[in-house]
Amino acid sequence: MIRRGHGFLNAPGPTHIPERVLNAMRRQAIDLEDEELTAAIEHCFSGLKPVFGTTQAEIFIYAGNGHGAWESAIANTMSAGDKVLVPQTGHFSTGWAEMAESFGIDCEILPNDLRVATDPAKIAACLDADKSHKIKAVMQVHTDTSTGVTHDIKAIHQAIAATGHPALYMVDSVAALGTCAFEMDAWGIDVAVTASQKGLMCPPGLGIVAASARALEAHKTSTAPRRYWDWSQRRHTAHYRAFGGTCPEHLIFALDEALRMIEEEGLEAIYRRHFHLAEAVRRAVDVWAEGGALGIHALHPAERSNGVTAIRTAEGIDPVELRLLVRQMMRTSVAGGLGQLRGRAFRIGHLGDLNEPMILGSLAAVETSLEMLDIAHQKGGVTAAIDYIAGIKKTELAAARAALREKAA
Ligand SMILES: *Cc1c(COP(=O)(O)O)cnc(C)c1O
Repeated sequence: MIRRGHGFLNAPGPTHIPERVLNAMRRQAIDLEDEELTAAIEHCFSGLKPVFGTTQAEIFIYAGNGHGAWESAIANTMSAGDKVLVPQTGHFSTGWAEMAESFGIDCEILPNDLRVATDPAKIAACLDADKSHKIKAVMQVHTDTSTGVTHDIKAIHQAIAATGHPALYMVDSVAALGTCAFEMDAWGIDVAVTASQKGLMCPPGLGIVAASARALEAHKTSTAPRRYWDWSQRRHTAHYRAFGGTCPEHLIFALDEALRMIEEEGLEAIYRRHFHLAEAVRRAVDVWAEGGALGIHALHPAERSNGVTAIRTAEGIDPVELRLLVRQMMRTSVAGGLGQLRGRAFRIGHLGDLNEPMILGSLAAVETSLEMLDIAHQKGGVTAAIDYIAGIKKTELAAARAALREKAA
């Protein structure tokens, strides 16, 4: 198959990798003692802290992925026989809980309608009922990539704090970090986990964990089996120890450059860009939805993710075929349904290194495919996205012109 020009990658991970990050990796391996590597490693550890919203936490970087980071969070703080509370968010709360179970941990699942965010009051009620403090941690997913629902990590912290229960607060922000606010210190988060290939704009290959002082304290008495993931092994200034062996140099050069890009743009601007791109996608989907065959899965607008939109499809529509055609014929990757939504949804990722024309291109590819497959939809989704983006850009343009005038005056 001849393929000209660019395609678009709109999976919610791995995400589009910026040229600057690709170029940072296009180099020879270097000596593990080389000062240039040391500087890149140090920048990765220090540069991740503002992204996590922490000055206090300790960061661990693994050659691994989000699943590795999950395992690190569990293996370093828990012991067999411990109990954890896992609010049900979708495919990823299930996956994290299954991993905990394989460590002999008793998971109390807090059931939830997957179209809405976790109710913090329900978490508080579970903790209040746990008079003997058997629950050692709350394991909360920030954005469940399977549903496109973003859970209110700050409100859940406030609810947990109000109970006075000592459970650790562990948050999977693999799909949310770098797309919306994350304040590890201010929100009382004890363990935060992420991976390199989503909002951080890097290739897959790094799992990242941030641990609070309370988590490091719990680590001392936790007896879960661990070696590669062991925080104690890794709290070492020698990089060979900090990485549990050879440092994944090229991924570190990638992350070093990606963090530089994040610093240049600024976190607030990054979150704003993500919101605008997400909103453009939602405007388009809402128009298509008028045809009656599809719609945004997340019920409440305020709970819709900045990073991924899950789109339910009606009975009789095959999202697997849609996804295949969009990829093969329109060079645009969207993701399929996961967990309860397998075969009943597709997902448009809109996180990481993306801009407006890229999103408009992806939306146009999807709309073309809806048309091609005769899937009932209202035409004009892309036009709605254009209208929304034009409105935002108009405001930006006016502000830029006003600033210029002010400078000239
Ligand atoms: C992608 C993802 C994971 C898993 O990350 P991997 O790097 O694929 O192991 C975990 N949780 C969430 C919310 C994710 O989006």
